[in-house]
Amino acid sequence: MKKHLLILILLFIAFITLITLCGCSVLDELEDSPPESITVDAALPAVPPVDVPTEAAPAPAPVIYSAKVPEVEPEPVRPVPVAVLSTHTPSLGQAFGFTLVGITPGAAYELIDTHFSEPIVPFVVEDRAIALVPVTTTVALGVHNLAVVEILDGERTELFSLEYDVQAVTFTRQDLTATGAMSALMTNENIIHDRTKREAARSETSPVPLWEGLFVQPLEGRISTQFGQVRYTNGVYSSRHDAYDIAMPTGTPVVAAAAGRVVLAEELYISGKAVIIDHGLWLFTYYYHLSEIDVAEGDMVQAGDLIGKVGSTGYSTGPHLHYAASIKSENINPDYFMQSSLFD
Ligand SMILES: [Zn+2]
Repeated sequence: MKKHLLILILLFIAFITLITLCGCSVLDELEDSPPESITVDAALPAVPPVDVPTEAAPAPAPVIYSAKVPEVEPEPVRPVPVAVLSTHTPSLGQAFGFTLVGITPGAAYELIDTHFSEPIVPFVVEDRAIALVPVTTTVALGVHNLAVVEILDGERTELFSLEYDVQAVTFTRQDLTATGAMSALMTNENIIHDRTKREAARSETSPVPLWEGLFVQPLEGRISTQFGQVRYTNGVYSSRHDAYDIAMPTGTPVVAAAAGRVVLAEELYISGKAVIIDHGLWLFTYYYHLSEIDVAEGDMVQAGDLIGKVGSTGYSTGPHLHYAASIKSENINPDYFMQSSLFD
């Protein structure tokens, strides 16, 4: 009986061992088997092929960060300046007005002519540059060229040149007899004193015209010496008289020829009691040998305002007004300013 039981136990163990080995093998087979494949149903509609472009797609627009890109200033449109002269045929001793329109903002200008001792610098007034050009009694007759130079950022450019044709004037001779007292006044010391005062008075000018329209006659009367007369004193050449002498009795009122600012009002040795008025743009008028001065330095006057009275003070042979005009120190004929307004 025990023998049968032992056999049964052995058989059972053998059976269990066999079962265990077979199970591992099945699991191993299951773990190593490929996943179940998906069967495509042949009845599904065919997918159309994707159209692949043969050319490269356009690149996307680059992103611009404007704060980092420097701004390019557009090239400014330069105006073309145009010059106007009040006359192209000035006479000896006259002056003419120069106007340049269409000026470049920030630019300065110069006018150059061979007979100028220094360039004339026009004044920029609003949208234009203006200047007075003297034609003194000593310039050459005939055609002159006035070069217009623009200076911008230190660079000089000659824009163009303008022709003007200087006309002849016949200046007559005047013989003067000077007394001993008059001759005694004409010392170097007195000449230098008067000249220094005159130069100081006209060392500055208004950069805008202080006058408008035509000048008036400061004194009506007999012209005793014409502008530009060649003067001989006691038979010896003394000077050219770049002024008008108007003879009238002592005390006759003298008026300002045009609006301006009084820049000298005092007694000088040779010019006597004198008034000088700045009209702007380096244009000055002079009133000499007065018996009385009725304005003070710094006064603003209008055309026709009383400035003094006729006299015979200083180097003078009798009561008269010595009436002169200059652009800077270049004497010119004041009559021209009664005929031409110079600027529009
Ligand atoms: Zn005079």
